[in-house]
Amino acid sequence: MLAKRSFAKGHYMNGDSKMDHIIDGVLKFQREVYPNDKALYRDLSIAQAPETMFIGCADSRVVPELLTQQGPGGLFVVRNAGNIIPPGGPEPGGVTASIEYGVSVLGIKDIVVCGHSGCGAMTALMNGIDKLNALPAVARWLHYADGALDGVKGMTFADEHAKLDAIVHENVLTQLDNLLTHVPVKKAIEAGQLRLHGWVYDIGSGGVETYDAEVRRFVAISSAPFSSATPSGQHAKAD
Ligand code: ZN
Repeated sequence: MLAKRSFAKGHYMNGDSKMDHIIDGVLKFQREVYPNDKALYRDLSIAQAPETMFIGCADSRVVPELLTQQGPGGLFVVRNAGNIIPPGGPEPGGVTASIEYGVSVLGIKDIVVCGHSGCGAMTALMNGIDKLNALPAVARWLHYADGALDGVKGMTFADEHAKLDAIVHENVLTQLDNLLTHVPVKKAIEAGQLRLHGWVYDIGSGGVETYDAEVRRFVAISSAPFSSATPSGQHAKAD
């Protein structure tokens, strides 16, 4: 291990790169964090039993466990550019496979789809997918969020910031719609075993809005902690 550490230092020349800090983080975890929670990690080594799935953006500023104050084993997480959920289907895909496993095997009870302020993926969508010639995979991927653009069509905004904010919110609703096309999700909701949640996290203020399907709008999560985005008439049974 020491030899590898020496190699890393040499590889990054100055020994003060971001990667060096990350490796130092692993060593600190092994030295200080893990020993303090040995029983937890021993339990977790046998199995996981998260009840909540979090589908968020890959953006480095969105940290699901930090935002929700969960530790290891607390969240079943999928992250990608734009917190996008391709519609359900037989073709293989990381998001689809994770949803299928989470709902059908882990018995996930709540799925959170979380967008965020200043999203680069949604900015690219707003500026036009046709401008992404150098990023063909991103361009194709963002087509799964076309519904977000449809949602703001014909609307006027004070500035680009306000427009992006609206697209971020619409994208969460678009992805919730896409989520409902996944058969295991639809079945679990109909059986009263699964609730959906649509969140938007504001990085600058720490605010989180949640979509309330009853009133059909986003509300501050602090004022409506029990709101759900589960489609009307398909509300899960109360715990
Ligand atoms: Zn993003």
